[in-house]
Amino acid sequence: MPSKKTVRPEKQTFTCASCGVLNCYRRSGDFPGLCLTTQTDDATKAHAQRAYLGRGKDARMARAAAEVEGTYYGRLTRVEEIIAFAKRIGAKKIGIATCIGLIEETRVFVKVLKANNLEPYAVLCKVGSVDKTEIGIPDALKVQKGTFEAICNPVLQAELLNQWKSDLNVIVGLCVGHDSLFIRHSAAPVTTLITKDRVTGHNPAAALYTSGFYYKRLLEPGRNL
Ligand code: SF4
Repeated sequence: MPSKKTVRPEKQTFTCASCGVLNCYRRSGDFPGLCLTTQTDDATKAHAQRAYLGRGKDARMARAAAEVEGTYYGRLTRVEEIIAFAKRIGAKKIGIATCIGLIEETRVFVKVLKANNLEPYAVLCKVGSVDKTEIGIPDALKVQKGTFEAICNPVLQAELLNQWKSDLNVIVGLCVGHDSLFIRHSAAPVTTLITKDRVTGHNPAAALYTSGFYYKRLLEPGRNL
């Protein structure tokens, strides 16, 4: 439940969001005094770096992602980038965790994957058909009250794709939180094709781009969301 306590001023912690130089990227200047790169101990940095070396899964994915970025920077759509990434990590079986609201987009994506010799398998968020009241969600919180309304079931979506032994899973428009659960329960690596935003036509960045005027409410402190 949302807290009704008075909102305290934000703690003044320096993070990369406060950094004005982003020097870790090109090293064309100086690192700031409280830089997360220079303040992190060498062992922690080395531990992360080791993940990208050798022939393990992390290393293969890191190199594949960099190869797709470096080869096609600014030229491929995300749909195409997912295909290029899948091919580079040797993924053939592509699981799709789809939202019911984006099933038409999923149907097109399935055709695209097949056209690229990949094997798609889509599982809808409503799979299992469990009424919301069965997991303790009151009827008052249903979108259409007084009707059967299935929960989103990201755990079952993940389990079905795990049983199918997908090599790579793709999220198509899962809700905030349902996507978290899906990722948590997915055995295969997960990437996102569409990030749901019911208000902005699935472009959540639009709210940030326009927060200076149309969406200035985003910056109002203490909203009871
Ligand atoms: S790691 Fe350091 S240089 Fe890079 S963005 Fe964070 S604070 Fe800035």
